[in-house]
Amino acid sequence: MCIYCRPGLGLFTSLQSSRRNVLLGGAAAMAFPALALAAPDYSKIVRADLIFHGGTILTMDPKRPRAQAVAVAQGRIIGVGQRDELEGLRTAHTKIIDLQSGALLPGFTDPHMHTVFVAFEDWLDVGPLAAANMGTVIEQLKALVARTPPGEWVRGWQFDPSITPDAIQPTRQILDGIAPNHPVFIIESNGHVAYVNSKALERVHITRDSNNPPQGRFVRDSHGELTGRLEETAAMMAFFLAMPLKTPSQTAESIGRLFAKAASRGCTGLFDCGLGMQGLSDLSVLREVMEKDPPIRFGGALVSTHMKTWRDAGIKPGMGDDRYRISAIKAWTDGSNQAQTGYMREPYLNSASRGQLNYTQEALTATIREAHELGWQVCVHSNGDAAIDTTLNAYETVLQQKPRMDHRHRIEHCSLLHDEQIARMRNLGLSPSFLIGHVHYWGLAFKERVLGSERAELLDRCASVAREGLRATLHSDWNVTDIDPLRSVEIAVTRVMREGGQVLAPQERVPVMTALEMVTSNAAWQCRRDFVGQIRVGMNADFVVLDQDPTRVDVSTIHEIPIRETWIDGRRRFQG
Ligand SMILES: [Zn+2]
Ligand SMILES: [Zn+2]
Repeated sequence: MCIYCRPGLGLFTSLQSSRRNVLLGGAAAMAFPALALAAPDYSKIVRADLIFHGGTILTMDPKRPRAQAVAVAQGRIIGVGQRDELEGLRTAHTKIIDLQSGALLPGFTDPHMHTVFVAFEDWLDVGPLAAANMGTVIEQLKALVARTPPGEWVRGWQFDPSITPDAIQPTRQILDGIAPNHPVFIIESNGHVAYVNSKALERVHITRDSNNPPQGRFVRDSHGELTGRLEETAAMMAFFLAMPLKTPSQTAESIGRLFAKAASRGCTGLFDCGLGMQGLSDLSVLREVMEKDPPIRFGGALVSTHMKTWRDAGIKPGMGDDRYRISAIKAWTDGSNQAQTGYMREPYLNSASRGQLNYTQEALTATIREAHELGWQVCVHSNGDAAIDTTLNAYETVLQQKPRMDHRHRIEHCSLLHDEQIARMRNLGLSPSFLIGHVHYWGLAFKERVLGSERAELLDRCASVAREGLRATLHSDWNVTDIDPLRSVEIAVTRVMREGGQVLAPQERVPVMTALEMVTSNAAWQCRRDFVGQIRVGMNADFVVLDQDPTRVDVSTIHEIPIRETWIDGRRRFQG
């Protein structure tokens, strides 16, 4: 234990400079909350406000993985060690928090989720957890049509034909049969594919003669007729603009509820991997959320498609403060593997299609170059192995021309990974974030229906990347899967597939501590929150208290461990 070093100083300096950015940012400054900053001198702190003890403390600090007690003052950790080592920090005013045989860990960070999907939460849930088979999906849609006045939108979300029994693609003609007088819009849970009927197409004046938007596709049949299938957000945008959606304050309320739910799952931090799809107004909504002091540290990546908007508004990398900071730019190279729009080296099983790339190589390289040269961290969504090739080529070109220390560029999902791609990632200093729910919820679909056994072995290679020294993380991609880091940890440890209960690629299972790093220290690092993610002196006091030590339970029950509390900056923010 050393309370005499000055761990907070560097952080404070960087906060000061970013705060100046906020103040000078004009319109951009309006989008961020302004929180007061203090200048504590940790070398002087010898009185603890709080001492946690009486349970397991997993610090995620490789130098001291376990401890008996943690002392906190002014929201920072000032001591980690044996119980008696911290006695000197205790005063009459120190609150002693008895962990009652539970476990204290750094608060969980979900490094890739999407607040924008709260827009759909009131829509009909036609996902595999709500509708047992395709027949039920159709019945529920018919019932919704029957209770909706003609002309009004009929909308469904969470649809997933890859894991819904007897699923068919709901073409325009099928949806016209169900709803001849209502515009219909059904979005898949992966967010990359949607289906519409003729009335919906009429509403937005899209015809067989309409051009595809950049990075999006109105899918057509062999005669050039629209099938009603839309691929990528760009193809859906006109529909979103034509339908009634939540007001900004309703959206802010929904996001607030989502944050509260994330806290109840042990999260103290979230990272939105697609901020600002509608431009600056989205950031204003998030400012409204953050002004209410939610139990979440928040930040994320702005969509690359509005780069000009961000530049014109003066938004710069790292703008904000340690509760709400914009640190990255996000681009999508392909779609979803389960929707067969992920871009593959070889065709999908029983198909001639290799999926779709949203960019040419040159266009992707230019997008990454612009963000990189402006100093942004870059997060690139790539699911298929050929999409990952394209992304690696782009990063390689950009980084060779303009190397940058500590860029922390990421590949999102990074789902199908070959050995030589892992080596390229290591050489370029890239890190993957895995949507680990792919293994549990879609594993058997990938193995038997989408990719085949051999390729399914390449899915979410947690053990291989850890062995190569890549700092991998696990994410929910909410709404694709629930925000539930303990569930993610369990899947990374067991790799049990929900359908059939078998293990997918057992060689990629990781020990519990490695999986925990992927939702704590690695996740905080990937989100550029270097002041959280470990329990060591100088770090902010962001914790989760679990009912049991996750390294000591049957691994198939990790997701059942109750979350007792979360703490942010030494304040209790959730209590179960
Ligand atoms: Zn994605
Ligand atoms: Zn995503």
